[in-house]
Amino acid sequence: MAYGFDTLQIHAGARPDPATGARQVPIYQTTAYVFRDAEHAAALFNLQEVGYIYSRLTNPTVAALQERVATLEGGVGAVCCSSGHAAQIMALFPLMGPGLNVVVSTRLYGGSITQFSQTIKRFGWSATFVDFDDLDAVAAAIDDNTRAVFCESIANPGGYITDLDAVAKIADAAGLPLIVDNTSATPYLCRPIEHGATLVVHSMTKYLTGNGTVTGGVVVDSGNFDWSASDKFPSLSEPEPAYHGLKFHETFGPLAFTFHGIAIGLRDLGMTLNPQAAHYTLMGIETLSLRMERHVLNAEKVAGWLESHPTIEAVTYAGLASSPYHDRVARICPKGAGGLFTIALKGGYDACTRFVDSLELFSHVANLGDTRSLVIHSASTTHRQLSPEQQTAAGAAPNVVRISIGIEDAADIIADLDQALTKAHG
Ligand SMILES: *Cc1c(COP(=O)(O)O)cnc(C)c1O
Repeated sequence: MAYGFDTLQIHAGARPDPATGARQVPIYQTTAYVFRDAEHAAALFNLQEVGYIYSRLTNPTVAALQERVATLEGGVGAVCCSSGHAAQIMALFPLMGPGLNVVVSTRLYGGSITQFSQTIKRFGWSATFVDFDDLDAVAAAIDDNTRAVFCESIANPGGYITDLDAVAKIADAAGLPLIVDNTSATPYLCRPIEHGATLVVHSMTKYLTGNGTVTGGVVVDSGNFDWSASDKFPSLSEPEPAYHGLKFHETFGPLAFTFHGIAIGLRDLGMTLNPQAAHYTLMGIETLSLRMERHVLNAEKVAGWLESHPTIEAVTYAGLASSPYHDRVARICPKGAGGLFTIALKGGYDACTRFVDSLELFSHVANLGDTRSLVIHSASTTHRQLSPEQQTAAGAAPNVVRISIGIEDAADIIADLDQALTKAHG
């Protein structure tokens, strides 16, 4: 039977514990698992049998979460990682190599821009940044050394919506996987695989856990990409020396990327999610749809109110009729444009810092996707490492404040913003 989203967010990946009947997924706080015998151990190590060896690779609590997120995203498998940034490296790792590049959107989470523009160079990888609203530029940026295309569904922090169908078409024509960071939308609002994405990554730190308790990430595989169609992805299509010449794609078919992520990625990079964190995220996901509905409802009310406020120059929320992305919302994220947007203050940088310091209900933190309303002045914090041009391109100009709308009473959120805006411009 095909269950709906609200049912799957509670039940996918979870079954009564075979040992005790425990209804909730137990926290398997264990490092290792006893082998039945030497033959069983050898089969597990040869990847001839699937089972638990050591928790850097697999753990039953983490496995339940992997199955749940994969199901909600409509993928065939998933690999959980220790953070959203770890998930991004884990997504690229099987595809990339020295001298190869990834084509990425200029509109990304600030930390992702730094990761892609600076740190991945240490691996000999590079990123080509393009405006993903300029589809010709995306196609033109792809060259013989490109191995992936990367963007966010609802881009953090500006609330831009990427035309995933159009970008997927370009990646497909070039024989490349499209990787979509779906953190800000969650699978409740957007299902990138239905729009042609090959891989979906998340910072589970945000809405999936939902209450600011966990750092975690996940890579979901659609299972739709033919890794053997070209010679571009030898890690997946060619013999793997570390497993006696096993070919991941030939052996595991649509699960090749997931198996590679566990057997090579987690084994050797070790960016493993711990079972306690997986437990918190499983609990969070049980109420994902309810929270996202409220985040959207509140964001729509607050963004509409802010738009008509005399001290506000602009509100980027794609859910507003005035947004250039409004039409895309209906196609890409039909249940709403999320709970994250930016506002530009007429008073500039100084008004922004006074505004942030005057808020009382809002917390000034470097996080988003919490039950609580959060605020940050990106230009002085998360986007501080970027040049002014990069800041503006990323939607984080000096007079811009990012707001993550919580699930409190909308009237209380608005009252707090109102008093702080008055103080900021007083
Ligand atoms: C937070 C975030 C990340 C990074 O995730 P961490 O869990 O902090 O490592 C990546 N992408 C987006 C869109 C984010 O919001």
